Amino acid sequence: MSKPVILTVDDDPAVSAAVARDLRRRYGADYSIVRATSGSEALAVLARLALRDQPVALIAADQRMPQMTGIELLEQARTHAPSAKFLLLTAYADTDVAIRAINDIGLDHYLLKPWDPPEERLYPVTDDLLGDWSRAHPDRAADVRVVGHQWSERSHETKMFLARNYVPYRWYDVETDEEGQRLGQLAGAAPADLPLVLIPDGETLRSPSTLDLASALGLRTSARQPLYDVCIGGGGPAGLAAAVYGASEGLSTVIVEREAPGGQAGESASIENYLGFPRGLSGSDLTQRAVAQVSRFGAEMVLARTVSGFETRGPVRAVLFDGSGEIEARSLVVATGMSYRRLNASGIDALNGRGVYYGVNAGEASQRAGDDVYIVGAANSAGQAALHLARFAKRVVLVVRAATLDATMSQYLIARIAAAQNIDVRYRCDVTAASGSGRLEQLTLTDSGAGTTEEVPASWLFIFIGAAPRTDWLGPDVARNDQGFVLTGPDLLASDRSAHWPLARTPFALETSVPGVFAAGDVRLDSMKRVASAVGEGAMSIYHVHRYLATI
Ligand SMILES: Cc1cc2nc3c(=O)[nH]c(=O)nc-3n(C[C@H](O)[C@H](O)[C@H](O)COP(=O)(O)OP(=O)(O)OC[C@H]3O[C@@H](n4cnc5c(N)ncnc54)[C@H](O)[C@@H]3O)c2cc1C
Repeated sequence: MSKPVILTVDDDPAVSAAVARDLRRRYGADYSIVRATSGSEALAVLARLALRDQPVALIAADQRMPQMTGIELLEQARTHAPSAKFLLLTAYADTDVAIRAINDIGLDHYLLKPWDPPEERLYPVTDDLLGDWSRAHPDRAADVRVVGHQWSERSHETKMFLARNYVPYRWYDVETDEEGQRLGQLAGAAPADLPLVLIPDGETLRSPSTLDLASALGLRTSARQPLYDVCIGGGGPAGLAAAVYGASEGLSTVIVEREAPGGQAGESASIENYLGFPRGLSGSDLTQRAVAQVSRFGAEMVLARTVSGFETRGPVRAVLFDGSGEIEARSLVVATGMSYRRLNASGIDALNGRGVYYGVNAGEASQRAGDDVYIVGAANSAGQAALHLARFAKRVVLVVRAATLDATMSQYLIARIAAAQNIDVRYRCDVTAASGSGRLEQLTLTDSGAGTTEEVPASWLFIFIGAAPRTDWLGPDVARNDQGFVLTGPDLLASDRSAHWPLARTPFALETSVPGVFAAGDVRLDSMKRVASAVGEGAMSIYHVHRYLATI
């Protein structure tokens, strides 16, 4: 397979040669470095590459070029290289223009010239951009092969698990792909065996459970030590932050995650309000960085294990796994977050994973190319998904129950949705039924404003209608409100709830009604339900774990 391309565009031959030289030195083994000296030449190169099906990973263009500026070029380049990362090389005077281009044309980064020394000024940015690009194109380095039905929930879950755990895989649809059929025959696979997961130099897994899949891939699925200082339930932003702060401050730390690290944030196509990332960053990027930090500080991560209960054994808090197994620790941080509410529409549950999805996996969005996509929801998560999917889909229809988005969605998203050519918003509208034989084929839309019902053909429905806390596993001792959110700190001492707190000392902030058990992030009553606040609470929980450990 030919290497992906990095295209550099600069009208000054000396500068062009210097950029190409620096890029080749670091990336030449994995990427072809191609040069162009004008916008029009660059567009012609891109058209040739598109015809050859050679992917373009990055375009680095100078802003100040005669005839066509760098921004004008990048805007047009999207047609030929839809998934390429865009880097603009600018002079200081063009900084404002570059910042505007972040919103206007989806510029990924700008660099002030000169970029010397490249180790400090060019490579860190380029490493990030190419890292993002190659994670979003796992096929290129694929090792694991998955053979299954496009419209099977188990196949979908398997792909989600691999993608969210950053395991590169190649997908074969057994119905439409000759290679998929050949692999199925070679393995003698019956329909119940699908999806098949073929691991290089390993066994062939037949419709494996998540735990079997994780074990076969060599992911850690059980704890190493008999006792930890702190065990963290849930590997979303709150849990990952708690793990980083716990381990970096000397506590023996283990984190248990039932699916893949990242939690809800890991499913976000673009988080734009997280401090320090003016261009925004994808949930998968944030997760990958956090996971690297967790392992760098030596916290253990146990995957594909669902925490299903916990017990107090004197000073020890034991976390019990679904099935068998447990972890003992001197303190516990509950960071199991929230899960999506189910849409109440007839026929929808049978089509879950067969065209109907809760949330959206950013990496899979490009598979919707050329289709109509329906999204239900009115909060920021639905707005982000609409904008992200609109880059690939022919048309996106956002189905909103209210008469406006103003009360539920940030203004910047509303403005971008209004400006998008291929997004329609259906206000005062509900999806009331879904149907299809084996996969989603039709939706029923009920317009409460007009009092009409309409059936529309549809293959894709993504649902973002809020979530409920995942706290059932905590049992009766951990006090929660009637919706299941965990009470912590001062909330435990409110007059009607004080009966929950057993000690003479007041509870630490984030401490639950069981001393030594803390809650952080979306599971906590009155938490802010944002990435930054979840991260903040995860970090803060460790401060209180230290204070608690000093009392026992
Ligand atoms: C699509 C989408 C887009 C979003 N975009 C933004 C945004 O742009 N900006 C922003 O600030 N916020 C955004 N949010 C909200 C933000 O993602 C959440 O507030 C944040 O992820 C909460 O973090 P958390 O760690 O508390 O919980 P979660 O993210 O819910 O993580 C909980 C983790 O616990 C695991 N878990 C649950 N139960 C168990 C169990 N029994 N055993 C083991 N593990 C378990 C889950 O698998 C999950 O990984 C978005 C949310 C969604 C869904």
